[in-house]
Amino acid sequence: MLTVLETKGVTPQTTFAWLEITPSCQLHCTHCYRESMPGLGHGKLGFDQWKQAIASLQAQGTRYVQFIGGEPTIHPHFCELLEYAASLDLHIEVYTNLVSITSRMWEQFTQHQVRIATSFYTDNPAIHDEITGVTGSYHKTLANIKKVLDRGLKLRVGMVKMRDDQDIESAKAMLTDLGVKKIGVDRARGVGRGTQLLQEDPISALCGACTKGKAVITANGEVYNCIMSRSFVLGNVLQEDIATILNGTTMQATTAMLNTAFAARPDWHDCGPDDQDCDPECDPKDWPDCNPDCCPATVADCEPSEDE
Ligand code: SF4
Repeated sequence: MLTVLETKGVTPQTTFAWLEITPSCQLHCTHCYRESMPGLGHGKLGFDQWKQAIASLQAQGTRYVQFIGGEPTIHPHFCELLEYAASLDLHIEVYTNLVSITSRMWEQFTQHQVRIATSFYTDNPAIHDEITGVTGSYHKTLANIKKVLDRGLKLRVGMVKMRDDQDIESAKAMLTDLGVKKIGVDRARGVGRGTQLLQEDPISALCGACTKGKAVITANGEVYNCIMSRSFVLGNVLQEDIATILNGTTMQATTAMLNTAFAARPDWHDCGPDDQDCDPECDPKDWPDCNPDCCPATVADCEPSEDE
C-alpha cells in the first residue's frame, strides 16, 4: 500500500474530462465497454448536478471535455449541457455513434466548433450492422460522417478490430477518400461487453495513457482515471466535490499504481513532447484518443489547443 508521501506529486493536473452522461444507447455493440443498449435510463446525476460537475471541473483547471455515453446525444439535456460547457469556454468533443443528430445539434456543433468523434467498423454494411446490433446503423452513421465533413467540423474516426472478416484497410481507404483525416485503429478491450470477446485483467485492458491528466465522471457520479479503468473507482461527485476527488489520496495512489504497472510493460514507451522517437503519424496537438500507439496525444503533456 502506498502512503500519501510516496504518492505525492504523481497526479498531473486534470485538463481533460470525459462526461459520460448516459449509459443508454440506440445501439448494442458487441464490444461496448459500457455495456450500453436502449432503455438503461440516464443515471443518477440530474441536470443541475451535471452543471455543477462541469463548473467544478472548469474551476479546477479542466479545459477539454468530451461528451460520451452510451450515446450522449440521446440524453434529454444534451443540448443544454453542451451549451453550458461552451459558456464556460471549455473545448468540446462529442463522441457519438452519429445515428441520430438533430438540426439543433448540428447548429450547436457548428456554432461552438465542436469536435466530433465516432466509431466505424468496416465498409461492409452487413458486418457493421452485426457489430452494432442494429440494422441500418451503417448507412445512418456514414451519412452523418459526410455531414460532419460537409460542415467543416473536426472529425476523428475510431475503428475497433474484433472480427477476421472486418476489412479495416478497405474501410480506412473509403473514409480517407471521403475526407476523413484522423482514423485510429484499436483492438477490442476486455472491459464491459468486451469481456465476451476477450478476457484480460483490468490493467492489461488499459492503453497506458489514462494517468496523464484525465478523468471521467459517469452518469451515476463515479469518477475514474479513464472510461476503461472501471475497476479503480476514485470517488463519487454525489458525495464529494470533483476537485477533492481529483486531488485526493485515492487518485494519487491509483495513478501511482497504474504508472508502475504501465512502466513494467516490456514494450512501454513513456513518450512526451520532447521525445525524438515520436511516431510521425502521431499528432501531439490532437485530443487524447487513447490510441496505445500514440501516447503523446495527451493534454497533460502537449498543447492540443494549437490547431493544425
Ligand atoms: S455506439 Fe458506443 S456506447 Fe453505443 S453500444 Fe456501441 S460502443 Fe456502446
